[in-house]
Amino acid sequence: MTQRDCVYPAFKPMTSKYDTRQVQITGAFIAFVLVHVACVGVFFTGVSWSDVALAVGLYALRMFGITAGYHRYFAHRAFQTGRAFQFLLAFIAQSSLQSGAVWWAAKHRDHHSYSDTPRDSHSPRQYGFWFSHLGWIFHEEAQKADYGRAPDLTRYPELMWLDRNRFLPGIVLGFATWALFGWSGLFVGFFCSSVALYHATFAINSVAHVVGRQRYLTGDDSRNNWWLALLTFGEGWHNNHHYFMASTRQGFRWWEVDVTYYLLKGLSALRLVWGLREPPAHVVAGQRSLSAEIKERVAAHLAASFSVEKIAERARVRWAAANPGQRWEDFCKRAQEKLAQVHLPELPSLDEMRARAQRMFARSPAMDEIIARAREMLEQAVAAQLALQPVAVRA
Ligand SMILES: [Zn+2]
Ligand SMILES: [Zn+2]
Repeated sequence: MTQRDCVYPAFKPMTSKYDTRQVQITGAFIAFVLVHVACVGVFFTGVSWSDVALAVGLYALRMFGITAGYHRYFAHRAFQTGRAFQFLLAFIAQSSLQSGAVWWAAKHRDHHSYSDTPRDSHSPRQYGFWFSHLGWIFHEEAQKADYGRAPDLTRYPELMWLDRNRFLPGIVLGFATWALFGWSGLFVGFFCSSVALYHATFAINSVAHVVGRQRYLTGDDSRNNWWLALLTFGEGWHNNHHYFMASTRQGFRWWEVDVTYYLLKGLSALRLVWGLREPPAHVVAGQRSLSAEIKERVAAHLAASFSVEKIAERARVRWAAANPGQRWEDFCKRAQEKLAQVHLPELPSLDEMRARAQRMFARSPAMDEIIARAREMLEQAVAAQLALQPVAVRA
């Protein structure tokens, strides 16, 4: 038996999936940069009020396409519509030059499954702010989508055709603005509003997982952010959304402005969409029962906020003083199955862990259970650390 046989498996650190240095200069990257550069064209053409109005209009139309289409309909199926309107939503959303509807939905379903773990392609906690904002889009591995996650969408040949021709709607819209409104219409109305759309949408992956308030315990870093909600027509209520993603409405309270939802209500009055869903009262009140996976994730996050090395070092010093002449690995051989139960007064108390959990997380009825589990993880991690680094034999 080796010392490693004493290691307990519960608290394994997760390793990163993506190497953030591998961002590549692809054709899509060059196109993305050129869309930004094209905005400089306004210095040659000048800007009229009608150009500004066009830019605002195209921003609003396409933001609605992204939030109602890409996000709430294709990724979450949070409401229903007919096949023709479904295609129109995908076309409008894709005119934002932000990839294809089926790709987007598949990628986004991954985001919710692995939020802020190493498997999440755009987690600020794992990969930093800028990689989550836009670096991941130009990273070959991180931008790969598993289309098997969207069988409800891949069965529509017209959606798959649009997905393969992902930039076609954007090119059509760009050409139309030039034909109808001239060069200043193209530069201001199309390119500048596309850049604003890029960064407002990307901010949901970056800013909305860093800045804002967490009302609900979700096991990830999603936050509610009112100014981002205004810019993105309701998407800034991101912590609400991570807590209960089946809801069409993301602003759970009356004062949480959710323009996408109001527009969808209008479309439902016209019978273009239907089956809109509001969050149930117990969800709004934060009484939703959490999955075992989320509780485990929060407990691991809490446990990881304590230093296993420091606690183990203090325990080792105390143990060596109390057991002169004995080696830790000998103890490990005798009592490996009991190692996790070794009395460790160096561990934080449940009250200390509760105080830290209150600082770190939103309230939840499951918090006591989570704290107990976090302490168990910490205990096992410290025991494993002690087993790996035997106490020096004292003469
Ligand atoms: Zn979502
Ligand atoms: Zn998110």
